[in-house]
Amino acid sequence: MAHKNIFERQAMVKLLLEEGELTESEIKKQLSEEFNCSKSAIHADIIYFRTRGLTETIFQNKSMRKFICERDCYTCQYCGITTNINGIVEHIIPAYERGVAKPYNLVYACQKCNTLKRRQVWIPINFEIITKDNPEWKEKVLLRAVKDFRK
Ligand SMILES: [Zn+2]
Repeated sequence: MAHKNIFERQAMVKLLLEEGELTESEIKKQLSEEFNCSKSAIHADIIYFRTRGLTETIFQNKSMRKFICERDCYTCQYCGITTNINGIVEHIIPAYERGVAKPYNLVYACQKCNTLKRRQVWIPINFEIITKDNPEWKEKVLLRAVKDFRK
């Protein structure tokens, strides 16, 4: 893929550490392949974030996750399927693009949509409700989604 740079790589390392779903060796394997770099480069990124603590956006603490799942009724906000297994809470605008871990930027999604979406921005089904307290964010998501659509 184009546009692989150190900034993007480190943002991915940070995101995966915050999500806490992969082990460090899985992160090293996955990202060294994706970014075509050595595992020791990824290791250095991991140490960087571990020693600083992940203080900027603590992604998906348990209460936030629960809040999002219940607000979205365990319904994937992209395809509308309802599932309480394998669903995940994800960022509308990716964390590495300064997508914050706030209710207006988090949605419940099924694995399939999450995999297909990758780093694109899609408009969630309950977009109006999700962004009702933050019209500026709504605008930002719309502009970003249009950009993806034009690709
Ligand atoms: Zn889905």
